[in-house]
Amino acid sequence: MAIALVLAAGLGERLGLGRPKALAELAGRPLWQWSVDVLRRAEAIERIVIATPAEGRDGAALMASVAAISAGEVIAVPGGAVRSESVRLALDATGGGGEDDLVLVHDAARPLVALDVVEATLAAAASEGVDAAIAAAQVTDTIKQADGDGRVLRTLDRSGLWAIQTPQAFRRDALERALDVPAEVLAEATDDAWLVERTGGCVVIVPAPRENLKVTTPLDLQLAEMLLARRQATPGDLSASA
Ligand code: C5P
Repeated sequence: MAIALVLAAGLGERLGLGRPKALAELAGRPLWQWSVDVLRRAEAIERIVIATPAEGRDGAALMASVAAISAGEVIAVPGGAVRSESVRLALDATGGGGEDDLVLVHDAARPLVALDVVEATLAAAASEGVDAAIAAAQVTDTIKQADGDGRVLRTLDRSGLWAIQTPQAFRRDALERALDVPAEVLAEATDDAWLVERTGGCVVIVPAPRENLKVTTPLDLQLAEMLLARRQATPGDLSASA
């Protein structure tokens, strides 16, 4: 079986709404609801836990939104100070699990995730010898590395470069081991797969469309709204553009 952890504990300050990003309105619904609805349609996923801001009005408002809309089908738990700590707290809230269980981690900030990407990620994580499978889009820009003064040091070979997204699916035991590290290591992780990589685990890429964007700025929110309108006009189009 698989459980899904949806990360929504960030405050989303770059969006500038004065409330958690997950409560931003996108095409008439709160941001968090778009990806949760996709996860609910995935047959393998039996439980969904959402990590909310740990304290104060922001956390309470998101918890109330989840309770009202999901009718108790999604469990909301307070997240942590950094993203991978939110993953650990959400995972703890699911209780124990079996060795063969899969855990799918997804950012609430990626509302355009397609069901086929969720299913492909879970299937790849269940493959022999794999510890984690992560959605990603091949890099199309030329990427250069520069020093602190903006002087270019080198140009990277983009043929092997991928921009990493969520969902990221893990064998539960591999994720539990990877998260069992001091707080300063968790704080270094910009994605959870890195924690598996640093323990020598096998992480594989699942190609996904660039449209599975992360909403960070007001422009991203407008773009997401346009892409959702296009998806509604031409269903299946997003997955076709992988
Ligand atoms: O900050 P960033 O955009 O990389 O955050 C990615 C996702 O991680 C967001 O959905 C955010 O809500 C979540 N997050 C979290 N707990 C934190 C920080 C971020 O769940 N402490």
